[in-house]
Order: sequence, then structure tokens, then C-alpha cells
Amino acid sequence: MAKEQNITIKEYINKFLEGHVISVEFMRKRFSQILQVGATDTAVLMQDKGKNVIASVTIQKSGDLYCSACKKDFCEHIFASLFSPSWITILQNMAKEE
Ligand SMILES: [Zn+2]
Repeated sequence: MAKEQNITIKEYINKFLEGHVISVEFMRKRFSQILQVGATDTAVLMQDKGKNVIASVTIQKSGDLYCSACKKDFCEHIFASLFSPSWITILQNMAKEE
């Protein structure tokens, strides 16, 4: 990928890390009330301090995400959960079941 962009590996990694830091900072500011408090085999649990609820975000069979707090397939809890590394484990669990 570094070759495609005609930059060195070091520059590529620096750019990547810079992007990551910016997105983490953005998330902290934008979703300061929403943070992950846990995960199960199938769900990422997001606490919303503003609304005082725990939202359980799951993947449905259709592939859509679902938030138990909002009963919607897209909301701020789902968006915030997308940055969670717990999805990797959940997707791996789902792949095992199929
Ligand atoms: Zn929600």
C-alpha cells in the first residue's frame, strides 16, 4: 500500500498512526458520554452516561447492526461501537457458528 501511494513504509506508518490518533481524539470529543463497558460472544456493550442506559449492539443475520437501547439499525451507540476491537472476536465467533 505504501508503494501505491509512492511513499516510504515509515511515512506510511506515520500517516496511519496520525490518522488513528485523530480519529481517537474525535471519538473522545464527539462521544464523551458513550464508552464501551464490556462485550459478550455476540454483542458490544456501550454505556451512555447522558441517557443513563447500557446499549447492547449486535449484528443481525442480515448483516445489519442493531442497538437495543434505540431499537434502531444505526445510532450513535452503533457508530461509537464500530471502533471497538471486540468486533473482531464477535465476528470470529459468528464465523465459527456458520
Ligand atoms: Zn443506540
